[in-house]
Amino acid sequence: MLRNDISRLRNIGIMAHIDAGKTTCAERILVFTGRLHASGEVHDGNTALDHLEQERTKGITITAAATTVTWTPAVGAFEGREHQIQLIDTPGHIDFTIEVERSLRVLDGAVFVLDAASGVECQSETVWRQADRHRVPRIAFINKVDKVGADVELCLRDLRERLGASPVLLTLPGSDGMLLDALRKHAIVFEGEDGRAYRTCEAVPADRAALEAAHARLVEACAEVDEEVLAAYCASKAATPAALERALRKGTLSGKLLVVLSGSALKNRGIQQLLDAVVAYLPSPADLPPKEGTRPDDDGVVLRAPRDDEPLSALAFKTVSDKNAGLLTFVRVYSGVLSAGSAVAVFPRHGRERVSRMFVIHADQRAEIARAGAGAIVAVTGLGEVRTGDTLCDPKHAICLERIEAPAPVVEIAIEPSSSLDRERLGGALGKMLAEDPSLRVTTHPETGQTILSGMGQLHLEIVVDRLLTEHRVGVRMGEPEVAYKETIRHPARAEHRHIKQSGGGSGQYAIVTLTVAPGPRGSGITFTDETTGGVVPKEFVPAIEKGVLGAASRGVFAGYPVVDVDVRLVDGGFHKTDSTAAAFEIAGSLAFQAAARAGGFELLEPMTTVDVTVPDSLAGTVSGALASRRGIVKSITARGAGVLVVARAPLASMFDWTNHLRSISSGRGSSVTRIDGYDVAPDAVARKVASA
Ligand code: GDP
Repeated sequence: MLRNDISRLRNIGIMAHIDAGKTTCAERILVFTGRLHASGEVHDGNTALDHLEQERTKGITITAAATTVTWTPAVGAFEGREHQIQLIDTPGHIDFTIEVERSLRVLDGAVFVLDAASGVECQSETVWRQADRHRVPRIAFINKVDKVGADVELCLRDLRERLGASPVLLTLPGSDGMLLDALRKHAIVFEGEDGRAYRTCEAVPADRAALEAAHARLVEACAEVDEEVLAAYCASKAATPAALERALRKGTLSGKLLVVLSGSALKNRGIQQLLDAVVAYLPSPADLPPKEGTRPDDDGVVLRAPRDDEPLSALAFKTVSDKNAGLLTFVRVYSGVLSAGSAVAVFPRHGRERVSRMFVIHADQRAEIARAGAGAIVAVTGLGEVRTGDTLCDPKHAICLERIEAPAPVVEIAIEPSSSLDRERLGGALGKMLAEDPSLRVTTHPETGQTILSGMGQLHLEIVVDRLLTEHRVGVRMGEPEVAYKETIRHPARAEHRHIKQSGGGSGQYAIVTLTVAPGPRGSGITFTDETTGGVVPKEFVPAIEKGVLGAASRGVFAGYPVVDVDVRLVDGGFHKTDSTAAAFEIAGSLAFQAAARAGGFELLEPMTTVDVTVPDSLAGTVSGALASRRGIVKSITARGAGVLVVARAPLASMFDWTNHLRSISSGRGSSVTRIDGYDVAPDAVARKVASA
């Protein structure tokens, strides 16, 4: 079937700010493509894509569920040909950026959903930048055009100014719930009791000027990216729909243009046009350059073209434990064929695994398949040892694809099992959750022995605790959330440590290490360089010194938080012919680092957030004051729809109960979104308080 024709495949994700209507759009896509019959409304909490209990109760989408649908475009170059669309639902909440990140790694294109009344919101900005980093071609869907306050021009301006995109309107809202097709210059009328059928007709007089203007803008935008349209435009100020479509596809794939559609998912308007556009403008796996990886034995670059006759290369991008199937591993095949029952090599862990069964997933239903070719996204059983980010490949043609890095956690909570039975079960349950979620960390507090969960935000950890109870039947009590502080130094310093122990009989210990430390750029972690010459420290002991330094840095020097952003140099040292050992140098490295860091002076780093608050005009002052009293700095206040948007930067530590506070000071009329935005040096008073706690 289709699977043999990779050009008819589209792997796409839907990305948006929370509440923009991503879930509703995904749901409508399932209905319009015939995968679902009755549409589950989001507010009823029964949509097919949100299949975890917590998602239902919290009304948000946490895990990226992969779903396969088929669609046959009704117009344009791909008219009448069935295509397969693999849809990955990505979460909008900022605590789950790792989910967005790993989806972006395996997608070929994305639909960016905006709320027509809100424009580009701060989370959309974060997700957009992530997509930029992965060079994912995108189209945009301005949803909720039925809403009072919907403003397509505002959205276009935001796309240009906040995201630096070059938006081109393909469909725009017209009179009486119609859409206007700027490419073919006609109106689209939605009919039937649920609006799912549609027909095209001439635009009504009231809409004609807007349609002409949008068409002219579209032709101009296409002329900028395509010679053929440019020539036609110069000759007659016109171009054929087919030429325009080709130009839009080219512009989308190169990122020079952003095709923008409008509609209302809730009212079933614009979904068919969106699906047509997914096929017409977003790439198939065959449109992408060969996948680059490294050879595990010598790190040489290897390329794999997106074809079935190449050796197998595939990336495991998600694991979920499923009640019926056990551990399911979601895999994107880049080249070659993955077959049920076959053996695959796993890198970077140098393992071997056997694929048991393979499925194409539709939310919580699945269809078993025997083979998956280049471009496919499948769920696989039997890969017990495979983790998110691992590469699966042909054992005879080893390749390691770039791993999926989890961001460093910013919030921690201590948990305490509720009973002795819960205590017994806790370890196993957390083990399973760690395998699924690379952004979760579990440690034991060195003094209290409590289990500490660290993650991407308060909500992330609350959901982990919730899942412990609902999925693993482990009850725990939670402490207050705390931010994950870090330590750094104030100024350059130098220190020597002499680790010399003579023992009576056998060999002693002898290692002298002199280090310099200097503040490094934010986000640089610990860098270590050996600058010694003349053999004052034999090269074989340098790795031990580095290990000592890194160990000391991870344990913390001042207040027990990891030390980061320090440039460490080994500048001098000494050794003894018989008494020097790696262990002695490790100790000397550790203690020299601690002494040098102390001499450099303590600086506390705290995680920061950027906060977008939308409130009525009259409350701008109150909100700014409330943010200032939480050590927030207001960056801008701009008019937004009927109110104002206040953007501020504030420490995460002072923002934990912000949502509740905002609700009370705005009588429920304010809304706010925070996103983690790097680390800053904390004021001395805060540093002293944290260090003495
Ligand atoms: P998500 O958080 O982006 O997944 O957004 P949802 O799909 O959950 O939608 C958020 C809210 O917006 C829900 O209450 C939807 O019913 C509503 N909504 C979604 N699409 C539309 C639309 O086209 N028009 C209007 N007026 N509301 C919509």
